[in-house]
Amino acid sequence: MALFVLKFGGTSVANLARLEHVAKVIRQEIINGNQVAVVVSAMAGITDQMVGYCQALCPHEQTPEHDVVASAGEQVTAGLLALSLKKIGIKARSYLSWQIPIHTDSTATDARILHINPEKIQQSLSKGEVPVIAGFQGLSREGLITTIGRGGSDTTAVAMAVALKADRCDIYTDVDGVYTADPRLVPSARRQDTLGYNEMFEMASAGAKVLHPRCVEMAMKHNIRLRVLSSLTDSPKGTEIIEDKLVVDQGNVTSIVHSLQEAKVTLKNMQNQPGVAAKLYTNLGNANILIDMMTQSHSREGYIDMDGMINRNDIERFQTTMFASKDNLSFSDIAIDKNVAKVTVIGMGLRSNMDIPALICRTLANEGINIHMIYSSEIKMSVTINQQSLKPALTALHKAFALDQNYIEKEVA
Ligand code: ADP
Ligand code: ASP
Ligand code: MG
Repeated sequence: MALFVLKFGGTSVANLARLEHVAKVIRQEIINGNQVAVVVSAMAGITDQMVGYCQALCPHEQTPEHDVVASAGEQVTAGLLALSLKKIGIKARSYLSWQIPIHTDSTATDARILHINPEKIQQSLSKGEVPVIAGFQGLSREGLITTIGRGGSDTTAVAMAVALKADRCDIYTDVDGVYTADPRLVPSARRQDTLGYNEMFEMASAGAKVLHPRCVEMAMKHNIRLRVLSSLTDSPKGTEIIEDKLVVDQGNVTSIVHSLQEAKVTLKNMQNQPGVAAKLYTNLGNANILIDMMTQSHSREGYIDMDGMINRNDIERFQTTMFASKDNLSFSDIAIDKNVAKVTVIGMGLRSNMDIPALICRTLANEGINIHMIYSSEIKMSVTINQQSLKPALTALHKAFALDQNYIEKEVA
């Protein structure tokens, strides 16, 4: 008997009708002769509402209390789905993370899963029950409730699949797979049947919400079969994430990803001398703030400006941390730009094809779109642009790299 972990995201469990539909999807897997463990997110919008309450009371505080509130939505969904399963004759039991437990480190709002004890879930399975596990939640060594980062129930599901040695992990969401670009912004985007772990990881890290980056990292490390499917349609089609070496070469560029989750920060007039960057990174590391696309440029004789991209949720903490060591870091001012979108072009072809960066820049120039920052690595190139240029930029790049559905159909015809 195969064992599958099925994960259902916020839209898939957004109301009682959807929960009842999800229960039927689970029943079908059981009828097919498989064992099933389930991981659920909160109903769509609930986590935002919970985080909103915390922010209204204590803005920008990242404490265990925040995580107690933020993780509440998953408790409700786990219970309701177990009830929906019982209603259609399937034995089920809900589990909160502390009951399993799912051990994490102590980083409030962004903890990492360290260890899962699979015993309780295995016992539940052997009793013929469907265990319904609340995603996103963890338990720290100190016994505190944690959460594992927004979008993190994907990672709970893969971690559960690792702990249970499951045969596959299916992530059910509101799109029927991973597309060449976000299908909500680029209607001509194409669903990909298969995708290598590395490309999927780059996509997730660059902001493609469809999978949480850590879940891809974990699936890759433990060789977990991972699929992305829609819970809203009955289509069996989806995307399977597979070993990179098994991916048929799909060309130079395979996807265009965007993120509106980041802001540009500039530290102005820092002294141009050894040790300044070291101090800056030490402060950021201590405050657990990730900075991306870091560049430095000459501002005036003996001084530099440092630019970088940070998560918008970290802006206030960034300012507080920087101003707390202003004398040590020796900057004159901080500028924050929120009118910024990051667009990332991903593909193995970037390793060898030097024409790709030129085509990216030329395509944006032809649209009259100004690039602010550029970062490139072996298999991706990111640029930042004004937010209002995002849609035209995605559309033009998608077309320039022949990723459009129409283009492929024409080629095949
Ligand atoms: P869930 O609540 O099920 O976890 P998410 O909202 O986290 O769902 O992720 C699904 C969303 O990811 C889709 O609705 C889609 O807008 C977005 N998305 C961004 N990039 C892509 C992509 N390349 N392919 C598919 N979906 C994408
Ligand atoms: N409910 C959490 C969130 O909204 C976790 C998840 O959906 O994966 O971020
Ligand atoms: Mg998600």
